[in-house]
Amino acid sequence: MRSTPQKRVITIAVVLLVLFALSIFIFLASQKGYVSNLFLSDSEQTPPIQTKEVVVPNYKTIGLSVEGRKIEAYTYGSGSTHIAFVGGMHGGYEWNTVLLAYKLIDYLNANPKTVPPYLTVTIVPDANPDGMFKVIGKEGRFAITDVPKDDALKVSGRFNAHKVDLNRNFDCKWQAESTWRDTPVSAGIYPFSEPESTAIRNFVFGNKFRSVIFWHSQSGSVYASDCENGILPETLSIMNIYAKASGYSAVKSFDAYPVTGDSEGWLAKIGIPAITVELKTHDSVEWEQNLAGAKALFAYYGK
Ligand SMILES: [Zn+2]
Repeated sequence: MRSTPQKRVITIAVVLLVLFALSIFIFLASQKGYVSNLFLSDSEQTPPIQTKEVVVPNYKTIGLSVEGRKIEAYTYGSGSTHIAFVGGMHGGYEWNTVLLAYKLIDYLNANPKTVPPYLTVTIVPDANPDGMFKVIGKEGRFAITDVPKDDALKVSGRFNAHKVDLNRNFDCKWQAESTWRDTPVSAGIYPFSEPESTAIRNFVFGNKFRSVIFWHSQSGSVYASDCENGILPETLSIMNIYAKASGYSAVKSFDAYPVTGDSEGWLAKIGIPAITVELKTHDSVEWEQNLAGAKALFAYYGK
């Protein structure tokens, strides 16, 4: 059967349309990287990379120090119960708490399933980066070999760049002058006058933390917290759990010397259980003890 000229025009138009659609498809596919695979045999295609599951922690900067250094937070898991660990409140004087925090971050990167499905865990490795920098001479991660021997320098790194003891700058029984052992220390000019304590306050207000654990050194004890309304029952529970698992002693109230404006007391005041974990020494991370303590808390929140 002979085709009429009209039929031929229609056929050519259809062929052109199909070719046009095909070229659009190839163009779009090449944008998405499909096209190279279309023209390769199975054996030529890039094999899927077989690696261990790598977790990219949810990373945030929660504030900046007086000198503009980042206060970082790393989050793992996506459960509905959220807890936080904070290291380095006393800067380079307690550098081992910062190293411990980074070690837990590394551990959770390598072993993400340690955080159970019902839990979210955020780690703030260094709440006082200026105090750390003063002693270590580095921002963020460092090695134990970066730690100097100079004890006077380490003491000076306890404070922020305004020479304020940050763990006296929170809103619980705040006074402008507080104490550290028998030494008077500046607590800032009003509660949360310092950018570092403000960062922690905003971090707490921006999340619904079930509890917060602060790492300090050095007494080998886990302390409960209170402000003026007694210790929250869950604070006692987590104090005992962490103490038992880590081997540190459990101490209901810190009474070696009067403390005002501490972060744990402020959390107690706003109804959030908080504990202070004081490592036994100033110069090691006491990894096994603290990993056991953290894991015991993870398990506790699953009950
Ligand atoms: Zn401390």
